[in-house]
Amino acid sequence: MKSETCLGKVSGKPLSFYYTEFEAQSAAEYSKNVYDNELAPYECQRCNYWHLSPKCRMTPSQKCSKCTSATNEYKNSYLTSKEAKIRASIIYEEQGIALEVYKCRHGNGWHLTKARNY
Ligand SMILES: [Zn+2]
Ligand SMILES: [Zn+2]
Repeated sequence: MKSETCLGKVSGKPLSFYYTEFEAQSAAEYSKNVYDNELAPYECQRCNYWHLSPKCRMTPSQKCSKCTSATNEYKNSYLTSKEAKIRASIIYEEQGIALEVYKCRHGNGWHLTKARNY
């Protein structure tokens, strides 16, 4: 399935999307087995479906036990500011959302927040 809302920033072509994480995960496994191309599913903030992203661009994250986002979910936390910045630049490329990196007040690594418009 090709997305009508989301384009690959590099290719300019519509991204494939999947309705569930499970579907995206099996497509990722297929790609790994057939093309030896490691992909990881991520949930898109724009269309709320799942896309695949090259695994080398994924940054490991954990959920913070204290901080919540505007939607009341626990925020992702990154071990280092560098990882958080990589994640922010990927989100910017893929979704056009500018994010700022800041240190967790509770010592749980680094978080991302929507950049303020000055
Ligand atoms: Zn999308
Ligand atoms: Zn936190």
